Amino acid sequence: VRSALEAMKGAATDTTDGRAITLSANVELIDELPLVKRSGAKGIGLYRTEFLLLNGEEMPDETQQADVYTKLAKELSPHTVIVRTLDAGGDKLPVEPLTDPEPNPFLGWRGIRVSLSRPAMFKDQLRAILRASAHGKIAVMFPLVSGLSEVKRARTILRECMDEFDKASIPFNPDLPVGVMIEVPSAAVCADLLAPEVDFFSIGTNDLIQYTVAVDRVNPHVADLYRPTHPAVIRLIKKTIDAGNDHGIWTGVCGEMAGDIRLTPLLIGLGVEELSVGPHQVPRVGQAVRSLSHAECAAMSDEALKKAHSYEILGLSLSLARKYY
Ligand code: PEP
Ligand code: MG
Repeated sequence: VRSALEAMKGAATDTTDGRAITLSANVELIDELPLVKRSGAKGIGLYRTEFLLLNGEEMPDETQQADVYTKLAKELSPHTVIVRTLDAGGDKLPVEPLTDPEPNPFLGWRGIRVSLSRPAMFKDQLRAILRASAHGKIAVMFPLVSGLSEVKRARTILRECMDEFDKASIPFNPDLPVGVMIEVPSAAVCADLLAPEVDFFSIGTNDLIQYTVAVDRVNPHVADLYRPTHPAVIRLIKKTIDAGNDHGIWTGVCGEMAGDIRLTPLLIGLGVEELSVGPHQVPRVGQAVRSLSHAECAAMSDEALKKAHSYEILGLSLSLARKYY
């Protein structure tokens, strides 16, 4: 099986009826680059830059960050590297200690909220991303967006960085693709409002599930309630994809759900166009995608959207997974 999977790595990731799915990798450390290249991933769908924060220290400066992003872009050319801006706080590495511990860290100072309240630090990161964009295909995306005003504020700051680069004649890609993560239910519900402002959506199911069903993603006592196929979750995924389609932008999934081959039929059927998964999962997910018909997955997903229970939705997806791989 292993060699068959290895042999397929170079092949396009199309369904049997010709729908192209971009299969990319989630990366935390630059050391993973050789693994990503070996996996056959078509670029990086999620680079978690908070892993640049070592021991809760400061982010590396603009030049150091630019070096890292440039290396990734050059090595993975001609594919795209999606750099997610800092997602510190919450359960993640702290960017700096808060004066008081937060009573609800998951609902607190994390993701884009931290970046917007630390504009100097945010601009360092955006400038580093812009510098790298002159050397390869780079895109940027913002984590934990809850509504339109955050996207507008982030874009304004990005525009300021671009204007400064223009004035200083520093090369960058003026058409840098800008995406948002859809991982807060309010963002999914308002995806139609966000879509005109961005170039793509990437659904972070790890957080989207936890916030939708109010189940801490790392608490074993409630793990049984953490259900990727909860009807509310798949309705939000569908709503996001539909809003993206209405505005001509693509939607990917970069949460753990994207790497679960039991759910590949469901995600393909709902209309996801990119799956970003751990480098080790790339060959298996690729094989799953190439075994499925988009039309059959879409018909199954339409049925799944009518179901009331997560096990029924999982069952429908599994029936296609079992039929083809
Ligand atoms: C997610 O929430 O699904 C996601 C991909 O981001 P992270 O796991 O880094 O929060
Ligand atoms: Mg997340």
